Amino acid sequence: MIQKLSFAHLPTPVEPLERLSTLLGGPKLFIKRDDQTGLAFGGNKTRKLEFLLAAAKKSGARTLITAGAIQSNHCRQTAAAAARFGFECILVLVGDSPEHPSGNVLLDKLLGAEFIWTTQALRDQKLKQAFEDSQANDRVPYLIPYGGSNPTGAVAYTYAIEELIKQQIDPDWIVFATSSGGTQAGMIVGKHHFGLRGEILGISVDEPASILQDRISDLSGETASLLGDQLVVQNEQIQVNTDYLGGGYAQMGEPELEAIQLFAQYEGILLDPVYTGRAAAGMIDLIRKGFLKPRDRVLFWHTGGMPALFADRYRDVLNQV
Ligand SMILES: *Cc1c(COP(=O)(O)O)cnc(C)c1O
Repeated sequence: MIQKLSFAHLPTPVEPLERLSTLLGGPKLFIKRDDQTGLAFGGNKTRKLEFLLAAAKKSGARTLITAGAIQSNHCRQTAAAAARFGFECILVLVGDSPEHPSGNVLLDKLLGAEFIWTTQALRDQKLKQAFEDSQANDRVPYLIPYGGSNPTGAVAYTYAIEELIKQQIDPDWIVFATSSGGTQAGMIVGKHHFGLRGEILGISVDEPASILQDRISDLSGETASLLGDQLVVQNEQIQVNTDYLGGGYAQMGEPELEAIQLFAQYEGILLDPVYTGRAAAGMIDLIRKGFLKPRDRVLFWHTGGMPALFADRYRDVLNQV
């Protein structure tokens, strides 16, 4: 086993979505509750951070540095992990410093993170500069990549597949939101390493297919190496659906709103506007189109993100309900 600090609430439950399955007249639906991984509202980054924090601690670091979008769940969970294990935390966020922080930014602040605000174009440069400045100031920084998606972070989802296999759901399909690719790469390695039968289908929330597939292909090879496996995954074997990008990253539209409402009103489960809302909207459309068939067993992997429901920018759309 690769070294980790144990702080996630695992195993996360798997629950049947009975009322939603009936409503959609489709597959038998299940949900894997990685919105319940613990650590300041949880989400998929908690699993990755168990491994990344062990590596940071081992390196002797004192400061964690990472970057993301303004409503980044990854940044919020990194700030929480830093607080929990006594690191300082610097977040490089794309956007303008908000006058009234809301959603994840508000939580970042409460968790004690320092902010560096930047633009998409300058993000990488600012991140590098923050790292160098911290080094120069003896803060002993440790860089956590975007979305926690390097092999050390991704391997968490390899073990998550082992956890799922033990829960004996045996889905035909696993559907979830994919972005920096660590979750999907880890799952692909887990499928091979632990022998999962089902198909792994990522619904893209921002990237075109070829970029995602290149990234996931590289990352799954590197993650498999950590476990001593040799794995070559061709781009065509990596299932990503890019039909649900709508108005672009973090632009919430009608499909996301409908999915959030259906999960809330038929199952009492909250999705988020950016990731799980979009992935669930994709899954619902794939059921309606008959791509996911009535005889299939489909597992929706909830990856968290709910604090964005309380971000000011989504208030008006969510209030259309
Ligand atoms: C980061 C994130 C994802 C995407 O996971 P990746 O490993 O970056 O592909 C999905 N859902 C939520 C809520 C996230 O915060």
